[in-house]
Amino acid sequence: MLAETHQRLGAVKDGAVATYIPALAAVPPDLFGLATVSVDGRVAEAGDSRHPFTIQSVSKPFTYALALDLLGRRPVRAAVGVQPMAEAFNALVLDPVRSRPFNPMVNAGAIAVAGLLGDALGAQAFPMLQQRLSSAAGRDLALDHAVYRSEAATGHRNRALAHLLHGAGVFGVAAEEAVDIYFRQCSLIVTACDLAVMGATLANVGTNPVTGAEVYGVEAVRDTLSVMFTCGLYDGAGDWACRVGVPAKSGVGGGLVAVVNRQLGIGVFSPRVDSAGNPVRGLMACEALAEELGLHLFEPSNPGSTLLPALAG
Ligand code: GLN
Repeated sequence: MLAETHQRLGAVKDGAVATYIPALAAVPPDLFGLATVSVDGRVAEAGDSRHPFTIQSVSKPFTYALALDLLGRRPVRAAVGVQPMAEAFNALVLDPVRSRPFNPMVNAGAIAVAGLLGDALGAQAFPMLQQRLSSAAGRDLALDHAVYRSEAATGHRNRALAHLLHGAGVFGVAAEEAVDIYFRQCSLIVTACDLAVMGATLANVGTNPVTGAEVYGVEAVRDTLSVMFTCGLYDGAGDWACRVGVPAKSGVGGGLVAVVNRQLGIGVFSPRVDSAGNPVRGLMACEALAEELGLHLFEPSNPGSTLLPALAG
């Protein structure tokens, strides 16, 4: 089924490779990989599922879960809200009442989370983050230095956000330090298969189903999946919740992770993104799988675990 979906959507050319981070413009646009990993560790793949790319915003739920685990819900919630926002992912907007980011899935919120990790861990913040995301993926995730340099050289909006947040007292570390952690987290190299394992780790209540590593606590996973569901696809999140109905997170590098709770992680790599920054074929692939397998959270006839054998066939 995965192979069929991959073949059918392979011809779709809608969207464009993100160019506002210059190094991303060099990614071949036709690459397309799909992978699923079940909570009992079974892997299914199609196309360029092992092609490396930078994780970008798909990192956000995983660093949010790390912050929740390390610091607890109260300080994290005080710094970053859990409300959807009707603006673009990189909007220079804070909740006007509380002077904090609306949610951790947009840049403002993710930079706030990076700042909180910087406050708590100092120079160990990025190494700890890299280690935790690697543990969720089940292998060591390396940094793409070219993308990191490119992003650091051009990320003026993100710097502006970091200064706004520091000025509002959301975190104590220097704005430059917080945004540097964020740039590095976005430049970690993953594959669609890695994203599927990471998604499956969330689906499996924080335990990586391939390695058995306990990566995140139960509460952190529950909060993370909740904001992924309501805010993961930015201003397209409401539409996604109705059409597909599972928590998901996209990135401008072409990555997408979707989580079918207690069942499956889905990872996609498709570099052409729409105007909201979501990978076009990634959305279509998840929609197709959700439709065929009845994955929507509120699907009355959700077949539950019986869907797993269908994927490989
Ligand atoms: N690093 C990118 C940025 O901050 C991530 C954005 C994204 O993937 N939506 O602009």
